[in-house]
Amino acid sequence: MSLVVQKFGGTSVADSEKILSAARKAVRAHQQGHQVIMVVSAMGKNTDMLVQLAGEISEKPPAREMDMLLSTGEQVSVALMAMAIDSLGYQAVSLTGSQIGIQTDSSHTKARIQHISTARIQSLLDQGNIVIAAGFQGIDENLNITTLGRGGSDTTAVALAAVLQAETCEIYTDVDGVYTTDPRILPEARLIGSVNYDEMLELASLGAGVMHSRSIEFGKKFNVAIRVRSSLSDASGSLIIDHAQTRELPVSGAALTRDEARISILDVPDVPGTIYELFMKLAEAKVTVDMIVQNIADDGTADISFTIPRDEADETFDILRPIVQSLGGRMGKTDQEVSKVSVVGMGMATQVGVANRMFRALADANISMQMITTSEIKISALVRRDQALAALRTVHKEFGLDTGVTDTPSFSYEPDPLPQIDAIDVVDRLQKIGMESLMVDDIVLDDSQSRVTLTGVPNEAGVAAAVFERVADEGIFVDMIVQSYADDQHADISFTVPNKQFAASLEVATQIQQEFKCQGLNYKREIAKLTVSGIGLRSHTGVAIGMFKALHDAKINVDMINTSEVRVNVVVDGCEGQAGLECLRNQFTKAMR
Ligand code: ADP
Ligand code: ASP
Ligand code: MG
Repeated sequence: MSLVVQKFGGTSVADSEKILSAARKAVRAHQQGHQVIMVVSAMGKNTDMLVQLAGEISEKPPAREMDMLLSTGEQVSVALMAMAIDSLGYQAVSLTGSQIGIQTDSSHTKARIQHISTARIQSLLDQGNIVIAAGFQGIDENLNITTLGRGGSDTTAVALAAVLQAETCEIYTDVDGVYTTDPRILPEARLIGSVNYDEMLELASLGAGVMHSRSIEFGKKFNVAIRVRSSLSDASGSLIIDHAQTRELPVSGAALTRDEARISILDVPDVPGTIYELFMKLAEAKVTVDMIVQNIADDGTADISFTIPRDEADETFDILRPIVQSLGGRMGKTDQEVSKVSVVGMGMATQVGVANRMFRALADANISMQMITTSEIKISALVRRDQALAALRTVHKEFGLDTGVTDTPSFSYEPDPLPQIDAIDVVDRLQKIGMESLMVDDIVLDDSQSRVTLTGVPNEAGVAAAVFERVADEGIFVDMIVQSYADDQHADISFTVPNKQFAASLEVATQIQQEFKCQGLNYKREIAKLTVSGIGLRSHTGVAIGMFKALHDAKINVDMINTSEVRVNVVVDGCEGQAGLECLRNQFTKAMR
């Protein structure tokens, strides 16, 4: 008999009427002959209220007690939902995370799922029950209650769908599905009929709060078809799958992370291990670092900038100051008034001239970019917070997301594809080693590229656009782009190109240097790009740190870095590519699939 998982978010169970309406959806699926597991969130804003209450009692509530408190929200909902099903004349049993046997690690408030016992749920389903599971919570090996992080009920739902090999996992929420950007921020956003796991992973981690990004990691690892849809209607919503319908557009969606801060560290010696030492300390303090960029200086020193969530800025500054001093560097100005705007799309991996369109559109709207990082399927730019909304609207329009052809939801109500056999093997294996443990697919060396760097580029809107427009006009395929913050007036821009287009790229860069009065131009003809690819690499901060550590131990210097959910790339000197590849393979043998 087929199994469906239906997850209802906070707004979809906000009052008794809504609980009954959700119950009716589950009953309908049951009547159609499916076994049904419902995963429910806390009612309405209940979790926020509990967080606020804790804050009134203590400035720093112990994380264990936060979990004890927050897990009560879901316990209320599951009980009420089971009563609702019962009142409709059907059998239901509610279960908390510990009753299901959702075993997690012990990192309170952001625990990761290690194992799920299926026996009890399966036997309740086989007895004809609709099983109501509390989202967002689990239990560690010492029977402490844990939670998975805000928004974590999505992850519970997809994880249950994975271990029980459900036919589909339906996420019922307060919007019609996944949109090209948050429809509450930009009303012109459009519904996307189907979206790839990789695109959704990036969008979710870049600010598209409609799905908890770790739930998409599960979806991808275990090949769970996820349908996001409205709890208020029967519209078919959006499907998140392995191969979404191909679109003409290079960009599928845009996202905004509003509350970011930029930290800059200046004049640290450019020797192997500097980055490792800095980020190790931040990882120990569990600071989530993003958009790491490093300038390649001529005088043997480096400047490093990165972004972090704004509310972690002060703490991060305090942690770093003594280390940076001991390394002989200094702290640059921290900017707490910045936001990150990103575009995501599988299409950009194969098309020339996507980045320059984004840069030109922002420049024409008079929005200047303080930092830029790209990866294969995303481009992110850091902008002033008061320009963030305008920036989002500008890029959304530039890529035709407001009017263009997003694919129409053409799928019908036929059953979604069953998980493939290998997904079942993966479930078995991961149940043993930890379901959310790191999974590395591949480690590769690309030694076919060159790097070009413009330093002291005047920090005015339009220079980055001019650089990449001219590069695109020459038909040059740019791979990595990094624009770092040098000071308030200047930025450095580095990019990588195929070796065979190096001469042409250098020519363009030389013209730009003269025209825009950039301070310097440097390059490396032979670089090596080392890529670790897998799933959830950014949320496992250990991956970047592990790469830095391995390279540090092998005395290999890192020139450029970029991170995404599915890949971490570093650039090192061309002659160190092979050695770098070997040390990374050693570092990650255990995590290889
Ligand atoms: P739930 O309580 O059901 O889990 P959430 O508030 O977590 O609901 O997620 C739904 C919200 O996500 C929407 O109301 C919408 O404002 C926001 N959102 C952000 N980005 C997107 C996007 N790209 N598509 C759809 N909704 C989005
Ligand atoms: N109730 C939790 C929260 O508000 C989990 C969830 O809704 O997914 O974050
Ligand atoms: Mg949610």
